[in-house]
Amino acid sequence: MSPAAEFTYPQVAGDHALDLVDTVHWRFSETKLIDTLRSYGHVVDWCEQMGLLSPHDCAALRRSAAHEPDVAAHEHRAIQEMREAIFAAVFEQSETAAELLSTEYAGAIASARLEREADSPDNRWEWRLGLTLATPRARIALLAADLLTGDLSTARQCADDACGWVYLDTSPRHNRVWCTAAGCGNRNRVARHQSRQRSAR
Ligand SMILES: [Zn+2]
Repeated sequence: MSPAAEFTYPQVAGDHALDLVDTVHWRFSETKLIDTLRSYGHVVDWCEQMGLLSPHDCAALRRSAAHEPDVAAHEHRAIQEMREAIFAAVFEQSETAAELLSTEYAGAIASARLEREADSPDNRWEWRLGLTLATPRARIALLAADLLTGDLSTARQCADDACGWVYLDTSPRHNRVWCTAAGCGNRNRVARHQSRQRSAR
């Protein structure tokens, strides 16, 4: 992680496209909502923390963004839109959102090349995206397409009223209701306990 990163981004979703959705905290609260992806620099921090881009590539992108702030700002907005489209496509079955993601996917593939993975034990080929300010957007578009065309039957929203974090429930009994047991799980348990005590008085 870049030592200068402002946020430590959550990785609780089990899928990086959904981890991107979770860069919005308290999605369902007008007063508490926090967007931690506020700039192109934050997007680069996120990609680095998720392991989507190397620290070396991230440093290069930060330098490019400083030279081309308008392009960086455009990319940042496009990624925020993609993030909201991922949420809407997965949890609201929005066709408009899927349309946007499909356009982004087509753009990403147009900029990509298949290259042999060096030292791949299974002779795999890999989509290589080059490195421009548009690379994070292309990388995210590929992730979103993988998510949408995969099994979404385990996609869940945290049961907290305001949290809005999302995840794939891969628990053995498919009974995960909280984004994190220590965060929303614990807070809601405490709140339920207190309200029971109040009503018992
Ligand atoms: Zn939560």
